[in-house]
Amino acid sequence: MKTYPNYIGGEWLAASDARPNFNPSDLGDCIGDYAESDAATVAQAAEAAAAARPRWAAATVQDRANVLDTVADELFRRKDEIGTLVSREEGKTLAEGTGEALRAAQIFRFYAGEAVRNAGEALGSLRAGLDIEVTREPLGVVGLVTPWNFQLGIPAWKIAPALAYGNCVVHKPAELTPGSAWVLAEIISRAGLPPGAFNLVMGAGARAGQALVDHPLVDGISFTGSVAVGEKIAASAVRRMARFQLEMGGKNPLVVLDDADLDTALECALAAYTVTGQRCTASTRLVVMQGIHDRFVKALTERLRAIRVGHALDPATQMGPVVDENQLAKDLRYIEGAVREGARLVTGGTLVERPQRGHYLAPALFTETTPQMRINREEVFGPVTAVIRVRDYEEALAVANDTEFGLAAGICTASLKHARHFLRNAQAGMVMVNAPTGGADYHVPFGGRKRSSYGPREQGSYARDFHTIVKTGYLRA
Ligand code: NAP
Ligand code: MG
Repeated sequence: MKTYPNYIGGEWLAASDARPNFNPSDLGDCIGDYAESDAATVAQAAEAAAAARPRWAAATVQDRANVLDTVADELFRRKDEIGTLVSREEGKTLAEGTGEALRAAQIFRFYAGEAVRNAGEALGSLRAGLDIEVTREPLGVVGLVTPWNFQLGIPAWKIAPALAYGNCVVHKPAELTPGSAWVLAEIISRAGLPPGAFNLVMGAGARAGQALVDHPLVDGISFTGSVAVGEKIAASAVRRMARFQLEMGGKNPLVVLDDADLDTALECALAAYTVTGQRCTASTRLVVMQGIHDRFVKALTERLRAIRVGHALDPATQMGPVVDENQLAKDLRYIEGAVREGARLVTGGTLVERPQRGHYLAPALFTETTPQMRINREEVFGPVTAVIRVRDYEEALAVANDTEFGLAAGICTASLKHARHFLRNAQAGMVMVNAPTGGADYHVPFGGRKRSSYGPREQGSYARDFHTIVKTGYLRA
């Protein structure tokens, strides 16, 4: 079994421990052993990044663009092979894995362009003879902590802007899915960066992740994951006045009004089951008006029963397995809990037998649920949605906003009036009209409100706000 080392200061370095990375579609398939880092190893990476700062910050914008373009080229070229690995290690379907590899390539290509577009501002002064220029400098060393569900896409959308704006990076991927991050690091290692400008340290969040968050040489932390861990990171970062950015969970509503096109509403609701429901933007609360309720539930149930659950690498599979035994146990706990609370399990929610040993779960749908039930308040992070029946648009909007989360919100309707009102009044960072809540474009801001996000937005040119520090220059000639 190959052991995959860390990448620190331009060298591949073995750690003292390693951990096997299993395929959730087939637990007999081990992808490899991946380094498990301790605090000393993380410190070594932070020091390497800090040492590389002057050289990378002084690189021309063309140098930076070239590095990002080189990474993009290779990702585009190898998207099928890398996409297959993404699916093999996480359990998402081949279409989803390949789509994610393609998206990673597009993101690197986009930030190659952004690197040369990092403009400032020039203004007049209140005082005669003075000129003012507002410029953006690199933040410095950024620590990037990423989850297992988009284990290639999220690292790409953090690493690419970090490097584009002249920062040095230490990336700590999720322990469960280090393989895709490792391949990305290997590609980056050959792209022309000065040694130390990019570092990969793999290992557990509580050890390697916490050490990265606490390291005094790390100027900023960009984190995507759960609210519980996000809160811990915020507290740690505040203690030493480090900048931080958090992207966390969701309990995203999809409102379906009586005048919605049924096929569109079904397409939007089914999107909540993509990546086995393990996406922060999944619309897990289906807020459905009474006139369309029964038709919608009947058609959705039929479609869910027809979903082929299976091995992620089988091209016929429409939904892959749950990522691991802990997440599966959590999904089952929420499903049992919802039944105990009085929700009606219309379909799914049971284990599925397949020729290979894997974490297979049939997509679940609940009806007759209330906004107060736990199934509608807490993020499950699995293939489980719940329908809340409402009387009218006003009640739908109130229910949609009745949550501590605020990542994405969607509405299906033919009414311009209601669509426009929802767009303006939904308390979410991203609002979709007649489109799934999951599925964001890379060139526009991504992020949420309330307990879903903290700090500046990611993606598009908005990523610059986290990754740069503003300087106001006053100049007298
Ligand atoms: P998680 O448990 O919070 O872990 C996220 C990352 O933080 C992992 O790399 C984890 O390492 C690390 N970590 C854990 N404890 C840490 C600590 N004390 N200090 C520093 N790092 C630490 O989340 P997950 O289970 O991987 O991912 C699922 C969650 O991510 C869901 O809540 C989902 O909604 C959210 N998510 C949000 C977005 C968004 O953009 N809003 C996108 C995708 C996912 P280990 O895993 O190795 O322990
Ligand atoms: Mg795995």
